[in-house]
Amino acid sequence: MDDIFTRQQSILIADVRQAGGGITDIFVQDDGTIGAAGEGIRREYKGEADLIIDGNRAIALPGLVNTHSHAAMSLLRGYADDMILQDWLNQKIWPLEAHLTPSDVYWGTKLACLEMVKSGTVAFNDMYFMMEEAARAVGEAGIRATLSYGFIDLFSLEKREAECKATENLVRHIRSLNNPRIKAAAGPHAIYTVSPEGLRWCAEFAAEQKIGIHVHLSETETEVNDCIARYGKRPAVHLDDCGLLTQRTVAAHCCWLDAAECALLSKRGVSVSHNPSSNMKLATNRAMPYPLLNDAGVNVCLGTDGCASNNNLDMFGEAKTAALLQKFSWNNPTLLPAHEALAMATVNGARGLGLPTGTIVAGAPADIVLVTARTACNTPLHNAISNLVYSCSGGEVETTLCNGRVLMLEREVPGEEQILSGAGKAARELVRRAQSA
Ligand SMILES: [Zn+2]
Repeated sequence: MDDIFTRQQSILIADVRQAGGGITDIFVQDDGTIGAAGEGIRREYKGEADLIIDGNRAIALPGLVNTHSHAAMSLLRGYADDMILQDWLNQKIWPLEAHLTPSDVYWGTKLACLEMVKSGTVAFNDMYFMMEEAARAVGEAGIRATLSYGFIDLFSLEKREAECKATENLVRHIRSLNNPRIKAAAGPHAIYTVSPEGLRWCAEFAAEQKIGIHVHLSETETEVNDCIARYGKRPAVHLDDCGLLTQRTVAAHCCWLDAAECALLSKRGVSVSHNPSSNMKLATNRAMPYPLLNDAGVNVCLGTDGCASNNNLDMFGEAKTAALLQKFSWNNPTLLPAHEALAMATVNGARGLGLPTGTIVAGAPADIVLVTARTACNTPLHNAISNLVYSCSGGEVETTLCNGRVLMLEREVPGEEQILSGAGKAARELVRRAQSA
């Protein structure tokens, strides 16, 4: 049985329902790409496949893409809730993070990857520290990730030099892994934690290395007001003046953008990661202006943010939350319909990270998720896309493939028990170290 999870093999997924259409079969070649997809192709490929997965009329959709996370924060899940953002960071999150070890980042990322695989996410855009250990966890988990070191210079020259080194080291390390699933990005944390010189260095380094940029933008009104007071311009304009708005840039949150900033992001080809659960939990007091971004033609994706402010990595829940938050905030029930919310979680996210995934067509990498139809929340099935967004959770995902490899089959993930106990132990010891300090 374990062989199924480790082998590079050809796979016939028979008798599944396309999220937006009819019954189909999917043939995955042993190079990890989709060879063919269509009704009745099982007759042609049955003899050829090393493994046949009986889809049992499950709903097949592209693997989900989480465009903003801090995966290792899964160890902080439930550690501190229901506080105001600055107190939450100053009193709880940062003091605990000061005690993080590389091993904690490894186990936290292992746990996050397990949760993602179990809820149908096969690629994520992550910013954190000690990312060499995150890369090790991602390599083992078999999913895709774009990893950035959270660059925070706090306006100090000395700290900036250390952050530049850390960024360079991570990029060099990821290149040395030579793993096509793992990419590097520059991760200037935000305009209120990084000096203009630091922001500019990240922009130039990312351009020179041809890598992505991952940044927080306009999460709170304070960030906007402070930026105007300090620099005489709004945050997106400030980032643009530092060279950080590019087609390779993913900007997270973006709650307080105005119309001119949305137009600027569109002009530069920036992708925006909407993080509705985190924004609601930390009460940012304004939802990301989806109508403005949409009108401007910006690629809007979806992200969970870290587990300390969500508190899970379930992209199905996030898609529903996004659709509800937008409707509620702008008092318009026709805003962000289910098919757009699903696109945000799949094809738009893939585009944001520059991945050739997010769609089930011949030639694309086989990043495929099967969601069971034989469950209460999928009965009846008038409209699969509606059910996926408004009725399902990640718990209904039964099978997950990434790059043609089976990562979960009928909810079994190899090594799950060891990951749960390893991560649980790391979290307990982290809290003990912090409390005895
Ligand atoms: Zn974040």
